Amino acid sequence: MDSSIITATVSVGAIGAVLGAVLAYASKVFYVEVDPKITEISEILPQANCGACGYPGCSGYADAVASLKCDINLCTPGGQGVIDKIAKIMGVEASSADPMVAYAACNGTKENAKDRFEYYGVKNCSSAVYISGGHKQCEYGCLGFGDCVEACNFDAIYIDEKSGLPVVDDEKCTGCRACVDACPKGVMKLMPKGSSTFLACNSKAKGKEVSDACSVGCIGCKICSTPKVTPNGSIKMNGDLPEMNYKIEEDYTAVKYKCPKNCFIDKGDFLKSPELIEQEKAEFKQKEAEAAALAKQVALEKAAAAKKVSE
Ligand code: SF4
Ligand code: SF4
Repeated sequence: MDSSIITATVSVGAIGAVLGAVLAYASKVFYVEVDPKITEISEILPQANCGACGYPGCSGYADAVASLKCDINLCTPGGQGVIDKIAKIMGVEASSADPMVAYAACNGTKENAKDRFEYYGVKNCSSAVYISGGHKQCEYGCLGFGDCVEACNFDAIYIDEKSGLPVVDDEKCTGCRACVDACPKGVMKLMPKGSSTFLACNSKAKGKEVSDACSVGCIGCKICSTPKVTPNGSIKMNGDLPEMNYKIEEDYTAVKYKCPKNCFIDKGDFLKSPELIEQEKAEFKQKEAEAAALAKQVALEKAAAAKKVSE
């Protein structure tokens, strides 16, 4: 064998051995002990790296929890199971998670909402929004190209073919917020999983402008926020758009049927025909009229009895 090849091989080997020894020594000298809790917590997190906890990935959250920098109930995809396991590792009481799910705050279907122009560009919402804010006349409405669908790692949203709007599957949704962050119109929002009624409008425009663009847009009439309709005060106006406070318990039946623009809908309503919804509204009004008539009758009888006693 050529002596130059032997010299080169021996030299490379010798350099490698020296560097290996240096690295082995350095790893001992500069060894930083990793809290075993970080590893344990990391192992039970779903590794979705969705950011729902507010930390950059599952390892960031594991680090923060182990260092007592944050609550143990921030991993929404993991749910109660993960919280319980973290509580055990950390030796603390398990708190409860309030499971949230996404919903689309827009009912601007192909029939309900007008378009300003035909859009022929790239079929995604973040591109469409660059052309005059999008093709919808309502500047706050859903564009329907499904950036939210793309963002979801859990296959929990699809664009309904008939309405052209996103529909969330509550069973699959983990409340991770990826769709909320992906939507350039702010249409995707979160609500408690156990609640059903939501405001299907996102428009902050004034009444006339809203009505011109969409037949079911909120005109800011404030009826939903009155004590007669929401006696517990769970709806407050924020400018011309109502805001629902799900922490306050409320029966939303009256809200649903008293809103003149039908802006409040239940999760299953998109499956119902407009005729069925109108029928439900008529039944509600009928029951309301009967209750008012009964109350009037009782008041009249009471007044008559009181008059008799005083005579
Ligand atoms: S629907 Fe939205 S919040 Fe729910 S899992 Fe998908 S991206 Fe996350
Ligand atoms: S909700 Fe937002 S991201 Fe989803 S289709 Fe509509 S505009 Fe696009």
